[in-house]
This record gives sequence, structure tokens and C-alpha cells, in this order.
Amino acid sequence: MSFTTLGLDSSLLTTLAALGYTEPTPVQREAIPAVLAGGDLLVSSQTGSGKTAAFLLPALMRLLAAAAAPGAGPRILVLTPTRELALQVQKAAHGYGSAQRMRTACLVGGMPMWSQLKHLGKTVDIVVATPGRLKDHMDRRSVDLGRVELLVLDEADRMLDMGFQEEIDAIVARIPARRQTLLFSATLDGVVGKLAERVTKNAKRIALARTAQKKLDITQHALFADNEAHKGRLLDTLLRDTDIDQALVFTGTKRAAEELSISLVGQGFTAGAL
Ligand code: AMP
Repeated sequence: MSFTTLGLDSSLLTTLAALGYTEPTPVQREAIPAVLAGGDLLVSSQTGSGKTAAFLLPALMRLLAAAAAPGAGPRILVLTPTRELALQVQKAAHGYGSAQRMRTACLVGGMPMWSQLKHLGKTVDIVVATPGRLKDHMDRRSVDLGRVELLVLDEADRMLDMGFQEEIDAIVARIPARRQTLLFSATLDGVVGKLAERVTKNAKRIALARTAQKKLDITQHALFADNEAHKGRLLDTLLRDTDIDQALVFTGTKRAAEELSISLVGQGFTAGAL
């Protein structure tokens, strides 16, 4: 199946071809026509499934098609749990929308407020934001959400895990009720389901199989260490296991990751910290 049957504008199809995308991923195949049809959507999908294009391509179609209501605020609002993901989404919007004119703003913590205010001083089409910083802008009255037509909650489960529920509710309360809402999450159960009930109307559900999890045959072990030195020796023994070619080691902090990678290099492993 190719992208041509999904109802996308030819300018977007040309961009996708130039990016080397030959066919839509399962989430794109299901979500793009559903978003273009106009209803609310709940999608359970994983990172790496192509979900960003699944919401950005129809969002870009909206900018191409409909005339904007008067005002300067964003027509598309994407909320993400982290600064990194927000920047990635903004970059993807410029990539997929490289054939069209649009203005975007990324409103995330840890970045200077003045440059964000400068972007918001002009008409903006797409805002990608983390809930905390967007709430700060709302409190300063530096952003107007009255023009938002499409709201995307990306990785909603992670946003709730990070304690953004209050901010999300405050943000959604400022967006016109006639909006279209798309919620993407690894799971749609529990608190995410409750959030979905509050922010969507008659939403269609798209649940995609967790292929990566189904394919992997994982055995889990817990090893108890007496102390740091013992933990180090256990790790060394594990990593020297002849069946292990590559390993991911998670640590509690960035500093611990850096120290561990240096120590592993010292022990003769090829290691790096992310
Ligand atoms: P995402 O899950 O949105 O983070 O996307 C994961 C990666 O897949 C990104 O690097 C995209 O550029 C890439 N991607 C998304 N859709 C397609 C597609 N239809 N064909 C090939 N690559 C894709």
C-alpha cells in the first residue's frame, strides 16, 4: 500500500517520496484517513511506529486547506512530555511540511523565555510544547489558544507519569470545544483512559499490536548485590557472557552512566554513555 490512497495533498506526497518513505507504517495507514475524516482519535502506539507523521501529515493538510480564524495563536497544538520530544516533533513538522509556508514555535522548559515570546509575537500555525512551559505562557497571557483547531497529546501516558495532569486540564480548558483531539499513548488504560474521557468526544480507538514486544523472547533475572563492588563484578561477569554481543545498561543518573561507561572502558569493553 502506498501513501497515495490516504488522501494526502500531492505536495506532501512529493516530500514523503523525497524522504524515501515508500509506504505508510501501520499506525499511519489507520490514523491518517481517520484524522482527515475529522473525528477524535485514541491511538495506542509505540515510539518508532511512525506516529509523529501519523498526526503531523493530517495537521499539515489542515493548514493547507482551511482558512484560519482571525488571531495570532496556533491552529495546531502538540503537547509532549519532554523537551527533546517537542524539538523532535517541531523538526519533523518542518521536514514533512518543507513544501509549505508555516510558522512553528516550540515552548519548552530549560530554554530562554524571551525567544519563545518573540515567536509568539507573530502569527504562529503550530505550537509544540511541554505542558509546564505552556502553562507558564498561559499565566503570562503570552499565548492565545482560542484558535486551536487540532490538539495532539503525544505520549499522554508519559505526560501523566511526569505529573502534568493539572497543566493538561488547564490547557485543554482554554481550547475551543469544537476542536479535534488526538491522543497517542503506549497504553489507553487507567489514568490515560480517564484523561481520554475528559478531553475527547466519541473518539475512535486504534490499537496496534506491540510487535516489538511480541517478537522478543525475554527472560528476566534479578541479581542481588551486597555492595557497589559486588554489583560491579556481577555486571562484569554478565557482560563477559559469550552469548552477549551487545548490552544496554540503565543507571539511575546521568552521572552514574558516565562513570560506569568510563569504568567499563577501563575493563576493556567498548562502551559509551547516552
Ligand atoms: P516516530 O515513531 O514518529 O518517532 O518515527 C520513527 C522513525 O520512523 C522516524 O525516524 C521517521 O522519520 C521514520 N518514519 C516514519 N514514517 C515512516 C515511513 N512511512 N517510512 C519510513 N520511515 C518512516
